[in-house]
Amino acid sequence: MKKEHKYIFVVGGVISGVGKGVATSSIAKILQGRGLTVTNMKIDPYVNVDAGTMNPTEHGEVCVLEDGYETDQDMCNYERFLGITLDRGNYMTTGSVYESVIRKERNLEYKGKCVQVVPHIPQEVIDRIKRAAEKANADVTVIEIGGTVGEYESILFLEAARLMKIKHPKDIMFVMVSYLPVPAKVGEMKTKPTQHAVRLLNSAGIQPNIIIARSDVSLDKKRKEKISTFCNVLPEHVISAPDVESIYDIPGNFERDHISDAIVETLGLQDRVKPSDLNKWKRYAQKIKNLKDEVHIAIIGKYFDTGDFVLSDAYISVIESIKFSAYAQNKKPVLSWINAVDFEDKKNLRKLKKYDGILVPGGFGERGIEGKLNVIQYTRENNIPYFGLCYGMQLLTIEYARNVLGLKEANTVEIDPKTPHPIIDVMPDQKEKLKDKNYGGTMRLGAYPGVLKKGTVAYSAYKQENISERHRHRYEVNPEYTKQLEDAGLVFSCTSPDGVLMEIAELPKDKHMFHLGTQFHPEFHSSPFEPHPLFTAFIKAALERRRQK
Ligand code: GLN
Repeated sequence: MKKEHKYIFVVGGVISGVGKGVATSSIAKILQGRGLTVTNMKIDPYVNVDAGTMNPTEHGEVCVLEDGYETDQDMCNYERFLGITLDRGNYMTTGSVYESVIRKERNLEYKGKCVQVVPHIPQEVIDRIKRAAEKANADVTVIEIGGTVGEYESILFLEAARLMKIKHPKDIMFVMVSYLPVPAKVGEMKTKPTQHAVRLLNSAGIQPNIIIARSDVSLDKKRKEKISTFCNVLPEHVISAPDVESIYDIPGNFERDHISDAIVETLGLQDRVKPSDLNKWKRYAQKIKNLKDEVHIAIIGKYFDTGDFVLSDAYISVIESIKFSAYAQNKKPVLSWINAVDFEDKKNLRKLKKYDGILVPGGFGERGIEGKLNVIQYTRENNIPYFGLCYGMQLLTIEYARNVLGLKEANTVEIDPKTPHPIIDVMPDQKEKLKDKNYGGTMRLGAYPGVLKKGTVAYSAYKQENISERHRHRYEVNPEYTKQLEDAGLVFSCTSPDGVLMEIAELPKDKHMFHLGTQFHPEFHSSPFEPHPLFTAFIKAALERRRQK
């Protein structure tokens, strides 16, 4: 018999940035804990066709999926929480929806009809949601609509959800993640903004079934009743969501207010569920809170500053991956983010001594590059564990060419197209794309296989020969220089199966504690119960350094 799919739409009220993505992941996790098959979707209302063309300081990290689609960071968070793999069918933007509708119109798929914003845009959205549920064979599909209710740009997505609800009233429900301020001068939690947000949602024809009340502190009974009365939801459907130490506490917290019972009841899932089992997850959340011994890691990047604020969102998967591997070693990770530009002045390099390990994540363009190269040289010469991701691997290779091979002007053509030593060159198939300014979604993207060399640092981490990792780059180690680099001691311990693309560069264990860079992004394959082997090897080296200090 065909499965009856159920859908939960998660929308934001009052303000953004209060953890709607994590709330969505947590709802899905909790339902998974009740034995349901669950999948997640994210809808981003901006016009970009994907997230790949946005500056990370603008919209956080770009999460690359297995199939190469460049999406929002929430997608990678869903994957980590649920331990599932998502694909392009689980993500959409206004741009991508319009793009498909226009393509269909050009292909005469609307059979001569006048194609209109309503109904054709919401219909495309509905078709996509149903397809994703079907593909995952999901009992429940949890769909996060980006932004905050009342924004003009999300209205067509709410319209799609409303239309689904009319057709399948028993299968659709709405959760609003709202924010309740406690103004310092007033000293009392205020529900009024949430009441207004619910009215705004009502004006789109939608009534929330559950309200998740984000705040600094827990909701009291009085506030629950007030929200219930004025927002038209049952008091037991108002879920208290105070700030927490770690995002891994959130599923347990929501369940304390019995959110899954509220969902099961609303969607009529009683016959499909078992009692809640979040034990493994709760034990994990508890364990990481009690860790005492530290490991200190510095991340040297450039996407930290937004005005007067420092934002680490651009590197969220990297940060989580460091944490997972540190937790697996029963250590508390202490992370510092430092702007690469600080190290253009070599005097500042001494600051790095106090760290147990240094990481340079992916990036683009020129800013901060010389600082990063100085950092890499310093870690190499001072035997400090270094882990480079993508750009961090390309720069490791350039630093080696400059300071060991003596090719002082070695560079990547991304920065210096006229360098006499293009150690990092544009991939042949990329040249045309750059010439045509065809930038969107055209890098080497998604999962590709790699073959590891036995006896290397990388091999001893993975303990296997064949791997597959996610990529996102336009440039690569120039094959014309690999022999010279290898003769000078650098090891390319992983390549593409045809041997052409260098996937990992490293120094042997007897030369350095850990000096390794990956052309791919291992951070997209790490999760709480399966930390990535290379991150773990890096953390182990950092701990070795800590012991020796
Ligand atoms: N800018 C480099 C490239 O495009 C590295 C990309 C990255 O770090 N993701 O090849």
